[in-house]
This record gives sequence, structure tokens and C-alpha cells, in this order.
Amino acid sequence: MLDRRSFGLTLLASLGASAAPGISLAQQAATPVKAASKLVLIGTKGGPRIGGPRVNPSNLLLIDGVPFVIDCGYGVARGVVNAGVPLPSIRYLFITHHHSDHNLEYGNIVDGAWSSGLNAPIRAFGPKGTVEMTDLFWKLNKFDVETRIADEGKPDPRKLLQPTDIDEGVVLELPDIKVSAIRVPHPPVVENFAYKFETKVGTIVFSGDTAYSEKLANFAKGADILVHESLYEPGVDKMVARVPFAARLKEHLLASHTKTEDIGRVAAIARPKLLVLSHLVPGDDPTITDEMWLAGVRKNYDGRTVVAKEQMAIDLPLA
Ligand SMILES: [Zn+2]
Ligand SMILES: [Zn+2]
Repeated sequence: MLDRRSFGLTLLASLGASAAPGISLAQQAATPVKAASKLVLIGTKGGPRIGGPRVNPSNLLLIDGVPFVIDCGYGVARGVVNAGVPLPSIRYLFITHHHSDHNLEYGNIVDGAWSSGLNAPIRAFGPKGTVEMTDLFWKLNKFDVETRIADEGKPDPRKLLQPTDIDEGVVLELPDIKVSAIRVPHPPVVENFAYKFETKVGTIVFSGDTAYSEKLANFAKGADILVHESLYEPGVDKMVARVPFAARLKEHLLASHTKTEDIGRVAAIARPKLLVLSHLVPGDDPTITDEMWLAGVRKNYDGRTVVAKEQMAIDLPLA
């Protein structure tokens, strides 16, 4: 568990006292969830390994109380519930790419919503393979779904989950919200996207998993918040030493993710009002402090930056 008290102090230290208003733990947020607009960091650890205080990647964006979930790493359903958001209220899911730390709980969060009374459609957007993955999920759970429909009179969840395979461009347009996507580099994955949410309470960009990308920096220009994935290079050797195939894993991490210094270069172009470091790799090494995450960024960028924590809530519009 996170030590809430020391977390608060760390947060203040990393933000500076004047930057703290509007950023809190979700459970302590002043705005009621019903009408709230805020970003909640649900899972902030990169990679599919389970353990430690951090959870696998996922984000929750509430716009006027309507929940948008971005990435569905293991633990997303529990994290959204812990943030005070009932699963059946989810209307939109977004997957950045099909690495398992981003999609493992995609079907399960919908199944969890259905178990709690889902009776309205959920639209899901993700790279090529999202439609097929949806179909396969329902095949995997055919027995349970059909038993409960017949036995408990539930609606058919296969009709409620409506997936779309996306390409670059505008993927969703609502009266007050436009969501667009660009491909970002994450070799060997090609179908890999960053998302931008343009809303009346601010523009929020999620980098997804990406190597250093000037394209992403330009995409994020003018954003209120840029949530960027993060690799702390000095921590990588210690991390990969714990696993088999260490050399190959290190090679992948360095080629496919963004070192903190390079996040600073991205942010120096994008100049978001708030930069959030998330999808932390390594995400479960307690010896890596917030200051250590921020030091690399600061070599190239002096703007407002925060290191994500589970259930950190950032009120929108930004304070
Ligand atoms: Zn990842
Ligand atoms: Zn990935």
C-alpha cells in the first residue's frame, strides 16, 4: 500500500506548493464523481508483471461525470471502482495497443460492468485486432454469458460491447468531445496509438507506449495535460537482472520506450500545462524516488511536472 501521508508530501515537493491545488487522491477529491471532470491515474506501472504498490497501466478520464477508460491493464476494473466510478456507467474504452499490459482486462472490465447491471452500450476503440479480440472474449466466456442470460434474465453483453478497429485521425466525435489518434513508434508493434481528447474542460493527450517521438510532441502541442510513458534507464539493469532473457528485454525497453531525458525534449516542444510521468519502467523499484524520475526530465524541460501515483486525481479544468 502507498503511505498516503508521505505521498502527499512527495507530491507537494515535486509540484511546488502553488501547483498542488486540484491534484489529490481520488478518494479525497472535493468534486462529487457524478458531475466531475477529472483525470484519475488508475495504473501507473509499465509492463504486465504484477506486484508492488503500482498497478498495470490504465487511466480514467471523467468529463462531466462520463467515464472514458484509456487502456485496460490488469487491475483496471478494481481501480475504477476504487475511484468511485460504478462500472456500468462506463461508456467508452480506448486501447493504445495490444501488449497485454494494455489490454489484458479489456473484456473483463465489461464483464464486470455487466455483472453490476450494465444495460447500455459501451463503445470500444483500439488498433486492428480489437474487434477480433472482443469476439474471442465472448467465445471464451460463452458458457457463463449464455447461462446468466437464460437463468438471470440479463441483457446480452455481446450486443452491448461495440468495438471498432481504428486508424489515424478522429476516432470519436461527440457534441463536446473529440478524440483523435496518431501512430507512435513502439517497435516491433506497428498498430500503436497515442490519443488526444479535446474537451470543453481541457485537452488531454495520452502517449501510450512510445519511443521518443517528435510526431507525438507536435500532436500534444497546446495540450493541458500530457500523460507520457517513462523509462528510467539507470534502473533497467537491476530490473532485467531479475528475469530470464534479460539482454533481449533491455534491448526492447531501450528501443521502444522513452527515457526521462527524452520526455523532457518532447515536453519542451509540446509545452503542456501539466506533464504527467506514468507507465513507469521500472515501476516497482522503491529505491527510485520521484526526484530521480524528474531529474532527467528537468535536463530539458522546466515546466510543471508530476510523477503519477495510483488514484492520483487531477481536477479539470486545471487549477
Ligand atoms: Zn506498456
Ligand atoms: Zn507496449
